[in-house]
Amino acid sequence: MAGSTFHEGLTPLNSAPTQTSDDAHDYYTKGDKIVDAVAPTGPIADRWTTRRFENRLVNPANRRKLTVIIVGTGLAGGAAAATLGEAGYNVKSFCYQDSPRRAHSIAAQGGINAAKNYKEDGDSTFRLFYDTVKGGDYRARESNVYRLAEVSTNIIDQCVAQGVPFARDYGGLLDNRSFGGVQVSRTFYARGQTGQQLLIGAYQAMERQVAAGTVTQYTRHEMLELVVVDGKARGIIARDLVTGEIETHLADVVVLASGGYGNVFFLSTNAMGSNVTAAWRAHRKGAYMANPCYTQIHPTCIPVSGEHQSKLTLMSESLRNDGRIWVPKNRDDCDKDPRDIPEEDRDYYLERIYPSFGNLVPRDIASRQAKNVCDEGRGVGPLVGDFRRGVYLDFTDAIARYGKAGVEEKYDNLFDMYERITGENPYEVPMRIYPAVHYVMGGLWVDYHLQSNLPGLFVTGEANFSDHGANRLGASALMQGLADGYFVLPNTIRDFLADGPFPAIDESHPEVVAAQTSVKERVDRFLSIGGTRSADSFHRELGNIMWEYCGMERTEPGLRKAIDMIRELKQAFWSDLKVLGTGDTLNQSLERAGRVADFIELGELMCIDALNRRESCGGHFRGESQTEDGEALRHDEEFAYVAAWEWGGDSLEGGQPVLHKEDLIYTAIEMKQRSYK
Ligand SMILES: Cc1cc2nc3c(=O)[nH]c(=O)nc-3n(C[C@H](O)[C@H](O)[C@H](O)COP(=O)(O)OP(=O)(O)OC[C@H]3O[C@@H](n4cnc5c(N)ncnc54)[C@H](O)[C@@H]3O)c2cc1C
Repeated sequence: MAGSTFHEGLTPLNSAPTQTSDDAHDYYTKGDKIVDAVAPTGPIADRWTTRRFENRLVNPANRRKLTVIIVGTGLAGGAAAATLGEAGYNVKSFCYQDSPRRAHSIAAQGGINAAKNYKEDGDSTFRLFYDTVKGGDYRARESNVYRLAEVSTNIIDQCVAQGVPFARDYGGLLDNRSFGGVQVSRTFYARGQTGQQLLIGAYQAMERQVAAGTVTQYTRHEMLELVVVDGKARGIIARDLVTGEIETHLADVVVLASGGYGNVFFLSTNAMGSNVTAAWRAHRKGAYMANPCYTQIHPTCIPVSGEHQSKLTLMSESLRNDGRIWVPKNRDDCDKDPRDIPEEDRDYYLERIYPSFGNLVPRDIASRQAKNVCDEGRGVGPLVGDFRRGVYLDFTDAIARYGKAGVEEKYDNLFDMYERITGENPYEVPMRIYPAVHYVMGGLWVDYHLQSNLPGLFVTGEANFSDHGANRLGASALMQGLADGYFVLPNTIRDFLADGPFPAIDESHPEVVAAQTSVKERVDRFLSIGGTRSADSFHRELGNIMWEYCGMERTEPGLRKAIDMIRELKQAFWSDLKVLGTGDTLNQSLERAGRVADFIELGELMCIDALNRRESCGGHFRGESQTEDGEALRHDEEFAYVAAWEWGGDSLEGGQPVLHKEDLIYTAIEMKQRSYK
């Protein structure tokens, strides 16, 4: 990854950082600096067009000879399989669900961004780019984000052509609403089921290719290892979750579109099955994990109600378009019926603190302020321990403005869902919400072509780190997943595949045999420990540690404590795990064991990354680094870099992760301290 940096010939607007603090010095090893060797040069608006032209083509007759493995059938993987299948490559598509359609993307509610500027309210490609970089607290790569904003408009056209039923206004044009961190309306939506409708579009396009014979579908298959031959990714080892058979699949290139790892916190809004195993196995085989500590904690979730919960529910950010967030001014009012609290005794704290963005501040800011008011003792809802962890999201004004029918038209399924879960009718009583883990900005390191540092391994969607910096703006994950799958990957992977087909390998190759053997041994090890605790009980304990010490606020002593606790937990896991059943059949207890083992190692790295980054940026809030008003305080001169971690061995055996830094240099946008006031 040596090579020139992209800003040659351009004027850098910031200088390269030099880190002077070293909080995590005893937990990691310093590695070489890295650069994105394929980063484009030239004016930002031309970079992607030029690159698409420059990247080599693969003759249609040769595409049939090339095999592409895609792990994941969410928006990122499903879109990529459909497009690469349509192009004529031989695609093998994997997911652990019983249908590609059940990928976690189906849960997305609120919408997808695109710079169409249908409202003529001042939107543009540059504004979407600017909002995304600023929203991510200047910790994303400029070129990648500009490309994302640029292709956003194609996504909407593609999805409309597929028949995705986006909401329309009275005149029949596609409608938009606003999401946090922006002052324009650029979010396209299909009621509260945007992810589901987009995924049906991608799924149909992919199934068309299944019927055409270019895509072969492997459902209920879990990738448990990456096959690396001569330094290149050449396949995967997967377990058939129904029969237990360990299978080898080889290819010319491997794409991971395996989603995010928010479930490391045990409680999150992610689908129960979402996990880090595919990415973590690749990491252990040499792929760098970038910015793992950047976690998004979403402000509008249904509050935790008790000890035995295993899932949290998101209430879409779109609700912040019309709902007003408040808590009582006086602690004594916190247990009153909210309808009995007069207007003058309510604190609409986001509108008060951030008059220009109000309830539409970015997620990290809304979450932190909700925590602050609850920490002050002004939270609402039932007591959890000594605190009430909830704030009101109130639609009284919106109902007065649009009528109940108007609110129903926009949000009915979300209101129904809330009522089914809480037993309270939000048309009559304000919703109660509290922040919860929702999304991860960290992920496998990729270059501008979405290729990891391991040649032949590409990573798309939430599984990579590339576009959202330290905080993702609402409705931008669906945009990224589909941008990667439909438009970016197909144009970058061809440059790699132009050198193929690569020398044939078969299952007897020593590196393939070693990968197979390691998977079998690991499965046997889980089954033979014979301890007393379920994988879930370890997972819950890990989640508590992560939430307490690596959640909404992180401090040096807290993170050090968390690392020690996770190491003890890891030791206990490998000596006291109990897995019921056998390996040659459907065995969810075994599946969970593997996922939890990987979550434990990931959790440790997240804490080390958070400990090293002694600054606050986006979703990463270090107690030691805040302004006088309690806002996140970045230290660009030290930390304007991507932290790319190399696996350095298991800490129980003395291993330490190796930190490689990629400097973030801006040429189109000047880094500023964020303000939404
Ligand atoms: C409740 C909720 C609501 C959201 N709403 C929005 C929204 O309105 N707008 C927005 O932009 N974003 C939203 N997001 C975020 C967005 O949904 C996700 O970031 C996005 O869908 C991720 O897509 P993906 O394709 O990268 O991964 P996923 O959809 O998570 O798909 C992962 C795929 O990988 C497969 N996989 C994973 N590991 C393995 C393995 N080891 N072996 C085989 N297969 C594997 C899975 O089977 C699955 O097919 C929301 C998130 C949540 C939790």
